[in-house]
Amino acid sequence: RREESPVPVARRPRLTVLSGPSGVGKSTVVAHLRKAHPEVWLSVSATTRKPRPGEREGVQYFFVSDDEFDKLIANGELLEWAEFAGNRYGTPRRAVEDRLEAGEPVLLEIDLQGARLVRESMPDAQLVFLAPPSWEELVRRLTGRGTESPEVIERRLAAARVELAAEKEFDTTLVNTSVEDVARELLALLC
Ligand code: 5GP
Repeated sequence: RREESPVPVARRPRLTVLSGPSGVGKSTVVAHLRKAHPEVWLSVSATTRKPRPGEREGVQYFFVSDDEFDKLIANGELLEWAEFAGNRYGTPRRAVEDRLEAGEPVLLEIDLQGARLVRESMPDAQLVFLAPPSWEELVRRLTGRGTESPEVIERRLAAARVELAAEKEFDTTLVNTSVEDVARELLALLC
């Protein structure tokens, strides 16, 4: 009698959403991860926010006008979008769907409202919450970026207070004590 060989379990391509309060260090963690692992594919969002110094078109974001953003919404080209601190941000749908269809893991780094929308439209998505080591540390990071006006910082702190309570809605929490550790943990969750 022929021995049955183990059947390899087909891996479902996975959509992972990294979210958490503004200033918690999501983009730093992702940048660190991609430096060590450039093969990790990260969705590039569209935003109506103006570029910060050093940000480049098509790298950190696609920077678009309000009218262009309206068109992306009207044409159904965004997987999700949200307004955050006076600007709009959205995930281009096509690139994400193409990657998932090709069997490649996909990483989104988006705000909490966007994470909730992804959960609704893609129940299989894995939601990862990046938490600050403490509230004091989060305030320090939000204040210390030095690129935003006091008014913008205050708006971001108010949003962060609400966002911290959302941890319970997520599948996994990573505490951002060290960028290296969190990037490694995130990588392990991707595939
Ligand atoms: P920032 O202006 O600091 O680059 O980003 C502000 C917030 O918008 C961050 O929490 C970031 O994760 C979030 N964000 C970036 N891209 C997207 C997106 O495509 N969709 C949503 N919902 N949030 C996004």
